Amino acid sequence: MAENKECSSSWGTPFSGFATTAIHNGQDPEQWSSMMVVPPITPSTTFKQVSPGVLTDGYDYSRGGNPTRRCLEKCVAGLEGAKYGLAYSSGLAATMTIINTLKAGDHVISTDDVYGGTNRYFQKVAAKFGLEFSFVDFTNLDNVKAAMKPNTKILWVETPTNPTMKVTDIRAVADLEKPSECIIVVDNTFMSSYFQRPLLHGADIAYHSATKYMNGHSDVVMGLITTSNDELYKKLQFLQYATGPVPSAFDCFLVNRGIKTLALRMEQHQKNAVKVATWLQGHSGVEKVNYPGLPSHPQYEIMKKQATGCSGMIAFWLKGDLQTAKTFLQSLKVFILAESLGGYESLAEHPAIMTHASVPAAQREVLGIGDNFIRISVGLENVEDLIADLDQAMKLAVSECWKLRSV
Ligand SMILES: *Cc1c(COP(=O)(O)O)cnc(C)c1O
Repeated sequence: MAENKECSSSWGTPFSGFATTAIHNGQDPEQWSSMMVVPPITPSTTFKQVSPGVLTDGYDYSRGGNPTRRCLEKCVAGLEGAKYGLAYSSGLAATMTIINTLKAGDHVISTDDVYGGTNRYFQKVAAKFGLEFSFVDFTNLDNVKAAMKPNTKILWVETPTNPTMKVTDIRAVADLEKPSECIIVVDNTFMSSYFQRPLLHGADIAYHSATKYMNGHSDVVMGLITTSNDELYKKLQFLQYATGPVPSAFDCFLVNRGIKTLALRMEQHQKNAVKVATWLQGHSGVEKVNYPGLPSHPQYEIMKKQATGCSGMIAFWLKGDLQTAKTFLQSLKVFILAESLGGYESLAEHPAIMTHASVPAAQREVLGIGDNFIRISVGLENVEDLIADLDQAMKLAVSECWKLRSV
C-alpha cells in the first residue's frame, strides 16, 4: 500500500463544541468536487492511479483506506479529542487489532467485570497465542499494582463495566507506576464520547463498540479506536490494512449519520435513565440498583470527576430467584428482551444466561452476575411508558414469586 497522505497529519477538530464537531468534523463539502454536504457512500474497492504508485487522494484499495470511512474516522477523532481515529468491522475486531500489537509472552491486565465477548476473546483466543491475561477489580488499584509485571503491556479498563456498572478512576490508573511500554486502553462503549473522553484523563486509546451508543440505531456492528500516539496509530493502521477487519462504506455512512445526533440522544438517554433508576431504587421488589449517575453508586464521586453525565445503562438485582427474573423479562411490553444496548429502543436482558454466558460460572458468581441480576438499556421512548411497563412486569414477577412460595 502506498503511504497514506494523511498518516502524519493531525485529525484533531478545529471546532470547540461537541455537537458542532459531530456534525462538521471531517465532513467538509470542499473535499468533493461536487461540494456534497452529506459525505457520499463510496463502495469502490479500488482507485485509479495517475501513474504506477501515484495516487490522487491517497487511496489505492479500500481495505487500506476509503473516503466514506475516512470521513467517519476523522469525525470520531475530533469527538474524543484525539489526533487519529480508526474504524473496524466490529468492536471485537478492534479489540483483536489492539491485542495484535503485542507478541507472545506479553501480559495484559484486564478489568475483571469486562464485557463477556472481550473476556472470551482474551481467554479462549488470544491466550492460545502465548499472551497472558490477569483479571482484576480495578475499583481497588492495589489489585492492579499487585498484578503488574515487567512484561505488562496493556491495562484494559472498561468503565463503567458491562454489566454491573463498576467505575474505574482513569486518571489514577494513568498515574500508576508501570513498565515504560505499557499502554492504557479504555473501553468507552457505555458512555459514548459525549459523556466521557478517556484520552483527556491519560488513556492511550479510547475504544468503542460503535454498535451501541455511537451509532445508536441498532443497525450496524462496528468498532472505533481513537489515539493521539503517532507510533500506536501507525501500528493500528498497519494492522487494519494487514489483517483486514474493516467496515463497509455503507456501514461507515450509517454510523457517521448516527453520530450527528449523539449529543441529543445521550442527553435524553440520561434524563430517562435517571428517572427509571430512581423509580427502581424506590421499588420494594428491587434489592439493589447500580446507576453511576445517582449518588447511591459507590463510585459516584469518580464518575462526577471524569464524566459529564451518564448513559441509559442500569444494572439491578431483583428480590427473588431465576423464575422472578424470567417472569419479569418475559412480561415486558415496551422494553424488548434482547442483547445489545445503546439504541433508541429500550432493551432488557439477563446477563447470566444471555450476554455473559461465556464468562466462567465461578467468575460470574464473584462478579454478582447471578440469577436475579438484570441489565437494561433505557431508550428514547416517553419515560412514563417505560416506568409503567417496568411496573406491570414487576407486579407479575412479584406475584409469581409469592405463588411459588405458598405452594
Ligand atoms: C458490545 C461490546 C463490545 C464488543 O463490540 P461488538 O461491536 O459487539 O463486537 C465491547 N465492549 C463493550 C463494553 C460492549 O458492550
